[in-house]
Amino acid sequence: MADLTDAQSSAVYKLLMGLMKPGKACPVCGSSAWILVNAVMKKPAADFGRPMPIVVLVCVNCKYNLDFSAVGLGIVDSSMNVIIPGDPSE
Ligand SMILES: [Zn+2]
Repeated sequence: MADLTDAQSSAVYKLLMGLMKPGKACPVCGSSAWILVNAVMKKPAADFGRPMPIVVLVCVNCKYNLDFSAVGLGIVDSSMNVIIPGDPSE
């Protein structure tokens, strides 16, 4: 697991919000309130391969989780080093 600074968390949150459809509705309950877990975590692989680094949005209302590939979005490199620039407004 790699912790994110406040500035990095803010940048990741903005990145993810920019990917979501207008309204940003939770697919389970329809809420549009999300919080970001302030760390890059590793999602276990099923039967083969290495665990996948992910960032996780949690629906404030029903706690549904959305997992995003942290490598694919340029948040960490393949060694789990955080590489996303922090949000300068934080
Ligand atoms: Zn929800």
